Amino acid sequence: MQYRKDKNGEPVSLLGFGCMRFTKRAGMVDRDKAQKEILAAVEAGVNYFDTAYIYGDSESALGEIFERTGIRDRIRIATKLPQYLCKSVSAADKYFETQLKRLRTDHIDYYLMHMLNDAERWQHLEELGFREWIREKKASGQIKNIGFSYHGSTENFKPLLDAYDWDFCMIQYNYVDEHSQAGRAGLEYAHSKGLPVIIMEPLRGGKLVNGLPPAARAAFDDSGRGRSYAEWGLRWLWQQPEITCVLSGMNSEEMLRENLRIADEVREWEFTDEDNAVIRKVRDAIAGEMQIPCTGCGYCMPCPHGVDIPLSFSSYNKISLGGKRSALWEYIQCTLCRKTPTSASRCTGCGLCERHCPQQIPIRSELKKVSSAFEGIKYRTAGFFIRKLKLWS
Ligand code: SF4
Ligand code: SF4
Repeated sequence: MQYRKDKNGEPVSLLGFGCMRFTKRAGMVDRDKAQKEILAAVEAGVNYFDTAYIYGDSESALGEIFERTGIRDRIRIATKLPQYLCKSVSAADKYFETQLKRLRTDHIDYYLMHMLNDAERWQHLEELGFREWIREKKASGQIKNIGFSYHGSTENFKPLLDAYDWDFCMIQYNYVDEHSQAGRAGLEYAHSKGLPVIIMEPLRGGKLVNGLPPAARAAFDDSGRGRSYAEWGLRWLWQQPEITCVLSGMNSEEMLRENLRIADEVREWEFTDEDNAVIRKVRDAIAGEMQIPCTGCGYCMPCPHGVDIPLSFSSYNKISLGGKRSALWEYIQCTLCRKTPTSASRCTGCGLCERHCPQQIPIRSELKKVSSAFEGIKYRTAGFFIRKLKLWS
């Protein structure tokens, strides 16, 4: 196993274990199977295990397995606070204490504000006293590193990073999302500030393995490199030295073995011009299936009425890659789960953005398509509850 460093100089394995996708039995994590997979990973040097308060019984299963096997001291636990449910620091305290109990530990190595998508929300948490709460938890040794997981827009990432002295962050990143959400720009910025970056959704929940269109599969197959689709996606990430750790939800021995092999073999900047050309071909093939030719460049931003134009288009385009359900979920998270919604329907048709689009996209009419695809009853219901419960303000 290869390692990169966290902010304190501690080694973090390139491959992290994502604990959201353990095999379930009767709705519960299959403890025996998970234990075998975890032990095999630890023996091979994996030391970063990622879970969250909201991942069903994942935290409890991990706690049981760590206690039963005695491996707690050999691994680092990353888990997440549902900050969007916290109306006070005492609520945060309750979640935190529950998490310690579930995980059967006295400290969390990497603690994340779950889905913290803009600096405004962080400012609100600060007003509730979170800065002091974190300071106390770190001083007592109960939290070793504090960070956040991110699904917001490219433009909101830097202000959030600058709003606090974070120890690390977690972003969604893969060769399709190179210019959406935090994106390459966000990754480079975090790295320039000395922040370790953990990667989630490296293969878009498996869609970059099982959901590739025929032309994308052909581009990989014809490359002569003999790599699996997963290997292409993981190597593309790991060869970027700004990335600290890539999470993979490994629920089979075969998947674990393959990921371990790649994490051992990969080298920084190993991609040749030919490799990059293959990735471009694959991306083009995926984009060819997409409806709106938006590159995510952001020249159309900011919209004076708050529409997140690139994100609206990238969510819409993902319908063809991952299906409507996951695209809608992304659209809800990125447009509603923030203090001021950034929905496509906020467009007033002023036309300012279209003057700046190098792709000459008829942004106003395309936003209408996005709005009618996504902003139906499910979206409005989600928006109603998010506002009513004031989850994000
Ligand atoms: S046309 Fe719509 S999306 Fe474009 S700047 Fe005006 S309000 Fe914003
Ligand atoms: S300027 Fe055009 S291509 Fe660039 S993000 Fe905006 S809509 Fe997309």
